[in-house]
Amino acid sequence: MTTSHLGLDLGGTNIKVAVISGDGSDFEVVTTDSVETDAADGPDGVTENLARVGGKAMEPGPMTTVGLGVPGHFDQATGRILLFPNLPGEWHGYPLRDRLESALGVSPWMVNDARAFTLAEGILGAGRGCHTVACITLGTGVGGGLMIDGRLHLGAFGVAGEIGHQTVLPDGPLCGCGNRGCVEAMVRADVLTSNAGRHDAASVFEGARDGDDRCIAAVSLMADFLGIGLANVVTMFGPERIVVGGGIADAGDLVLGPVIEAVKRRVTLVPTEKIEIVPAHFGRFAGAIGAALAGAIRP
Ligand SMILES: [Zn+2]
Repeated sequence: MTTSHLGLDLGGTNIKVAVISGDGSDFEVVTTDSVETDAADGPDGVTENLARVGGKAMEPGPMTTVGLGVPGHFDQATGRILLFPNLPGEWHGYPLRDRLESALGVSPWMVNDARAFTLAEGILGAGRGCHTVACITLGTGVGGGLMIDGRLHLGAFGVAGEIGHQTVLPDGPLCGCGNRGCVEAMVRADVLTSNAGRHDAASVFEGARDGDDRCIAAVSLMADFLGIGLANVVTMFGPERIVVGGGIADAGDLVLGPVIEAVKRRVTLVPTEKIEIVPAHFGRFAGAIGAALAGAIRP
């Protein structure tokens, strides 16, 4: 019998939905969908929206498992939210898992959204079949994770693999995580646009392609810090593939070219010529697909 798994990806703007079927390590994506989060409605309103789209996805038949990707930190034991830095309202302590279980009749397995992205790309996407793969998503923030020997590496405390929160500049700018000089604090979209004096990342990349000095310098600075972060990951874990996703990755070779050069320059002990740096496969539904996988395999 084929089993179906529902994935819900709670984002600041949209809730994305994916249904996958299969088990073990053999899964395929069946459907995807997306609705608005209405984040301003606060925790109860957002939970209602999650329940509504989840219920709709379950109309054709029951789900064996439900996975819920969330944009922040939570307590896996209690299913309560610890910190959603980018969603308005009183989320701290909110019993999101229990509320959703009441509405859906299945207890959702929670996963951080960057880890969900890593699962989707590592198991079914651009990192499929790799022994060791590092995934990084570049956008408003910098998320990521590691798959080692086909499994999501979360460390002894369930929180390891935050590629974006390595220190790359001692005493650098404050990061959302509380540390200073993290990869994320140096390369996130608002830092890039402010360094370049432009309103959005697309305009910075356009400026750099047109030869604007300030845009070129901003992109180059971003590539340097990202390169340091990825070089550290390569030296520590020796992935054969690095998967890059998120809005900033759409700039393609303009960003990835200098990043690859930086990794090659800084890594001396791992054969970097064998490492592939590739774009993500799933696009905007990676988080929902990864949440469904998280529910199915409970990494
Ligand atoms: Zn940080």
